Amino acid sequence: MKLVPISALGTHNYCQCQIILRYIRKMHPGTDKVYDGITAHRLLDTNFIKSADIEDTVDNIITRAKKENTIFCTREIKVRSKEHRLIGRIDEVELHPKKIIIIDDKPNAKAYQSSKLQVTGYCIAFKKNYNIKKDIYAAVRDRDTGVIVWMEKFESNSSLAETVKTSVESILALTAGISKPKPQKDINRCNSCGYLDRCTYREGF
Ligand code: SF4
Repeated sequence: MKLVPISALGTHNYCQCQIILRYIRKMHPGTDKVYDGITAHRLLDTNFIKSADIEDTVDNIITRAKKENTIFCTREIKVRSKEHRLIGRIDEVELHPKKIIIIDDKPNAKAYQSSKLQVTGYCIAFKKNYNIKKDIYAAVRDRDTGVIVWMEKFESNSSLAETVKTSVESILALTAGISKPKPQKDINRCNSCGYLDRCTYREGF
């Protein structure tokens, strides 16, 4: 793995073994929940495209938001930072005249550490891609209700940003076979895991 998919930060936080199952053994968590999630996500994108009234580049929209003193909203923004070894696609970005809000949509969203790490990863890559001087806020939003359940100003030296950095190093080491994954100790996490029936790391339980 050369670049770490930003969504893998949440996966890694949930359980290191999922990184091997997903990215090395190419197994997908085959739960109904996952497929329902994909469908719900596609619906959000389709509805957004239907209601969108302009088409422009992100760079132009950033300039326009400031110039026209208005808020623009865009979805599915690809980001990539070789320096941080991160790649991903942001659910939604709100471009305000003086700030930017990076939003990750989650089902039954709560302020889980895994969600905070993922959206912090998007902020890092977005800032690098667009050389942003404005304040950036990271937000986790409930996909079904549209309610923001967590929002914090992004700081590149915050403990969340530091954890993203160490998680990226850990994911790269795991996928390169340099380190071995530590199985999840919390049985409740295993019981909710989409790999539960196929996981070979649970033998110790
Ligand atoms: S079943 Fe448990 S140990 Fe296996 S991948 Fe899932 S959370 Fe990790």
